[in-house]
Amino acid sequence: MILTNRTQCRCPSCGVEQTWQDVCRRCRTDLSELRQLNENIQLLERKLTDALDVGNYRQAVRYAQKLKQIDPVLLNEILQQLRLLRDFQ
Ligand SMILES: [Zn+2]
Repeated sequence: MILTNRTQCRCPSCGVEQTWQDVCRRCRTDLSELRQLNENIQLLERKLTDALDVGNYRQAVRYAQKLKQIDPVLLNEILQQLRLLRDFQ
């Protein structure tokens, strides 16, 4: 996955790390779809934590499954941050 973290991305064409933007600052590659994907991931993460906060575990699992389809490694990082990894697997 190209995502390096939630605030930085690595350009798939030239490898430069930069803040999220629609066009790579070095090689001008279009990064808009990746940026949109990153936003969708952040939205899913917020929905997941909100569902957990209100005790809606069934909905939280659905959001976790969507995140897993996008990026299983990132989902593991999120679950580790939430200290839920053992519970989900
Ligand atoms: Zn680039």
